[in-house]
Amino acid sequence: MYDVIIIGSGISGATIARELSRFQLKTIILEKEYDVAMEATMANSAIVHSGHDPIPGTLKAKFNILGNRMYKQMSEELDIPYMACGGMVTAINEDQVHLIEELYERALINGLRSDEVKIIDQETVRSLEPNIADGVIKALHLPTTAVTFPWEAAIANIENAMDNGVELALENKVIKIEKLDRFVVTTDKSVYEAKVVINATGVYGTDVAKLVTNPHFEIRPRRGEYYVLDKDVRLVNSVIYPAPSEKGKGVIVTPQYHGNTLLGPTSEYVAFSEISKTTASGLEYIKENVAQTVQNIPYHKIVRSFAGGRATSSTEDFVIEESEVKGFINVCGIESPGLTAAPAFAKYVVEELVSVHFEMKPNTDYNPRRRKVLRTNELTFDELNNSFHDNQKYGRIICRCEKITEGEIVDAINRNCGARSVVGVKNRVRAGAGRCQGGFCQSEVINILARELKVDKLDIVYNKAGSNILKETTKGEQK
Ligand SMILES: Cc1cc2nc3c(=O)[nH]c(=O)nc-3n(C[C@H](O)[C@H](O)[C@H](O)COP(=O)(O)OP(=O)(O)OC[C@H]3O[C@@H](n4cnc5c(N)ncnc54)[C@H](O)[C@@H]3O)c2cc1C
Repeated sequence: MYDVIIIGSGISGATIARELSRFQLKTIILEKEYDVAMEATMANSAIVHSGHDPIPGTLKAKFNILGNRMYKQMSEELDIPYMACGGMVTAINEDQVHLIEELYERALINGLRSDEVKIIDQETVRSLEPNIADGVIKALHLPTTAVTFPWEAAIANIENAMDNGVELALENKVIKIEKLDRFVVTTDKSVYEAKVVINATGVYGTDVAKLVTNPHFEIRPRRGEYYVLDKDVRLVNSVIYPAPSEKGKGVIVTPQYHGNTLLGPTSEYVAFSEISKTTASGLEYIKENVAQTVQNIPYHKIVRSFAGGRATSSTEDFVIEESEVKGFINVCGIESPGLTAAPAFAKYVVEELVSVHFEMKPNTDYNPRRRKVLRTNELTFDELNNSFHDNQKYGRIICRCEKITEGEIVDAINRNCGARSVVGVKNRVRAGAGRCQGGFCQSEVINILARELKVDKLDIVYNKAGSNILKETTKGEQK
């Protein structure tokens, strides 16, 4: 029997798992997909928001600020990419100037210090951002805005939690929960028992809550679509938000840690089956809206588009609470700024909600640090030369677009919470994330996965069971 079962391995489940691993608690994460963090956590803007935007007094406001302040340290401990690029909310007319003045006040109420938010004039905006649209007349400047790499943020939290004793069961969709003197959690593969269950299932939050309680909230998926620009485009230096509207933070231009630029997201309630689909109208909406804030966008440099679903709650706030069924904790409605807020609310969940059920003895072997990742494209020539001499796999480039070596791919497969699929490799080390989108390196990634996992190449999948890429051997090739 486990002490705690976490359902869901997005950034919420991942950060909660790491927090729990600080204590002597037997914990397991149950995840329905082939890999961790395959839903909202892998399809968002990657922004560590400053906390200027949420309505004061909400959980979003509270945990956004706290999370923003924790991100740098978490990124250092777990070796997660982190870019302190800053951000600005732009205004293109006098009404929007009033809006950013209101946001300025809101930011201070939410807890930003006076040196962490200021209104800047057109000339200053232009000096910071040469491609800002001509119509922008003022902006709210937010130096504590940053950018992370969301997949790695979740994966690193789970890897570190596993290094500290947490277990992970993938391809285990929770379909039934019974409350006896303990919880009996049935998945489509097995049965698990625990004293406490945490529901961190994103857009499926209400469905899973309904297995055991009568939730007071309803979660609906709200889709956001994006364009991704090639990494050789240096369009903006910081995150450029439009003035907010009733649709939320609006279409943002976001520089990514690895050099790409994101344009998006849109905002539209959709059916569950439509969450990850991009549409011609959505992408057209991005083009129309983004033109108000940024100009000179080279649309011929788009490398891909994607979409993700926000878990929007009927309560218009995060739902982070123990339900009326004691021991069943909901971490639901975690839409934006959930990626930012996760390290802060994970601490709250463990210290305030889980702790009432256990004597929280510290895990004396707990190590907050993840083993460093060797990213060869960030090394100096001498460092690269040394790592090549230590291990020649770090001298063999597999992904030419992103310059990812065999050594990095092998490492990503062989860690705790390691890659098992082609997309798993891409999400961890970015092999296949560049201009050719895996056109050149995919076959070699399949070879490496098969060799390291000691399975047949035909068994290697793209991203989920049944998505095998190779169907049969040809020309008498040996298995
Ligand atoms: C378009 C968009 C843009 C965003 N931009 C930002 C941003 O820039 N900054 C920011 O701070 N936040 C942003 N967010 C919000 C952020 O992405 C989310 O708050 C966060 O990823 C939610 O994480 P989660 O773990 O709660 O949910 P998810 O990542 O969705 O994870 C839920 C997990 O539960 C699993 N699961 C579901 N049902 C079951 C079941 N029955 N059994 C087992 N497993 C199950 C799923 O497979 C999934 O892995 C954005 C979100 C979207 C969609």
